[in-house]
Amino acid sequence: MENRAERQVIKTQVLVLGGGSGGVGAALAAAREGVETVLVDRQGFLGGNMTIGLPLLAFLDAQGRQVTKGLPQEIVDRLIELDGSFGHRECPLHNSTTVIDPQLMKIVVFEKIKKYGVRPLLHCEIIGANTENGELKSVIVKGKGKEIEIFADMFIDATGDGDVAYMAGAEFEKGQYANGETQPPTLMFTVGGFDLERFMDFLQDHPDELKHGSTMKIRPGYTAEFLRASENHVFVGLKNLVSKLRQEGKCPIDRDTIIYINLPRPGYIALNCIRILNFDGTKVEELSRGEIESHLQVLPLINMLKEHVPGFENIFLSSIAPFLGIRETRRIIGKQMVREDAAVAGLIPDDTIALGSYIIDIHSGSGDSTIIRSLAGPYGITYGATICRDVKRLMLSGRCISVDPVVFGSSRVMPTCMSIGEGVGIGAALAVKQNVAPEDVDVQEIRRKLREYGAIISMEDVIPADQVVCKSVR
Ligand SMILES: Cc1cc2nc3c(=O)[nH]c(=O)nc-3n(C[C@H](O)[C@H](O)[C@H](O)COP(=O)(O)OP(=O)(O)OC[C@H]3O[C@@H](n4cnc5c(N)ncnc54)[C@H](O)[C@@H]3O)c2cc1C
Repeated sequence: MENRAERQVIKTQVLVLGGGSGGVGAALAAAREGVETVLVDRQGFLGGNMTIGLPLLAFLDAQGRQVTKGLPQEIVDRLIELDGSFGHRECPLHNSTTVIDPQLMKIVVFEKIKKYGVRPLLHCEIIGANTENGELKSVIVKGKGKEIEIFADMFIDATGDGDVAYMAGAEFEKGQYANGETQPPTLMFTVGGFDLERFMDFLQDHPDELKHGSTMKIRPGYTAEFLRASENHVFVGLKNLVSKLRQEGKCPIDRDTIIYINLPRPGYIALNCIRILNFDGTKVEELSRGEIESHLQVLPLINMLKEHVPGFENIFLSSIAPFLGIRETRRIIGKQMVREDAAVAGLIPDDTIALGSYIIDIHSGSGDSTIIRSLAGPYGITYGATICRDVKRLMLSGRCISVDPVVFGSSRVMPTCMSIGEGVGIGAALAVKQNVAPEDVDVQEIRRKLREYGAIISMEDVIPADQVVCKSVR
């Protein structure tokens, strides 16, 4: 019998591994600089968690100022054209919400990939990283039974889990410093048949269902009136009802509130409620357990809502996300680390390539609660936090960059991940063109380019609340 195992070799200037918000931002930015860019993902589409029904959080800070723009804004602008987003809206809980249509997001990302000339390699799992004297030389991926070895001048790990850095031997951190606990995963799913007005009437009569308890510090104004005033909202609440139903053994989920995202399609909401505890998203056995346990919670949860919550009586399952959403795994150690004290103090150093501003939002990995802390304003994510300390020619983008576990609770949101990617992609492209290590690129040149493209990287660039253009209106 003929052995048909094949091996192919590809060479590129920049190789981006993982096509979520961090990877898409990095690949688009690198290709825009005119360097040959390959983007690998295991799925048949790009966008990662941007395609599972989640809202984009953190375009605006706690004061309603716009602190994220550039490529993430370009994507939202296109979604608005397609009626796939209402734009940005201030929110007392999340700072801002930008709800999006997850299916249109897939199309928009493909449009942008074509526009900027990124070469995608889909349906490919990353299976190896070859290093020589501490320098990454190639990454091996496998698709359709064939191994492909990809050589590149610069590599960007945007797998969320830091899979490439891990395989290449880089040091990493995982979970909270106190107990190593990581935030739990959630299987997102979408239902139709939701009666928004009826649910709002119920909330108006039961304002206590919008109170959240001691671990969630929410600014005043998160009321039924606020939610009713615009379709662009994310609901977090029903604590009393969930607690009662859990005591009675009628609630299938390990969390104390219900979260839904009101999608830009009347009657459709995405539910972000399932929680799998004591979970490690870097192990396939755990991923298998998580997928099964969470799929089995979907119908009981729908039935519970239908039976007990006004407005949900006629909901029906519309879609289940194609994969379990993983909140937290490895954070790869970089040349620098963004730490809690700097973020809380709102430090924006002059080597900042993106601003973070989202609340510190830490879902318990072993219990039902969520810790929420607000930040007064934005903080800087520095270029050095995106350069792998231990492996040469390896950069980081998205949630696996070098931050401490508290900052991670904020920097992990998708517009921030994409903004980080925009800076990293430019850095990688300049490193290739100048034939230098990423740490030897002049960060002020990256910043100059980011500004030219409309990115926001300092307080001077921040757009005052009354001048934000992309605000949703009703
Ligand atoms: C349930 C949940 C709710 C959240 N809520 C919000 C929210 O409301 N708003 C918000 O802005 N953020 C939210 N977040 C955070 C945000 O979604 C993530 O932190 C963010 O998407 C991280 O971006 P990323 O590009 O690093 O990773 P991802 O979006 O996970 O992308 C990683 C990509 O890499 C690919 N990949 C990974 N490993 C491999 C491999 N070995 N081989 C090939 N391909 C690989 C994946 O297929 C994926 O496309 C939430 C996260 C979760 C899980």
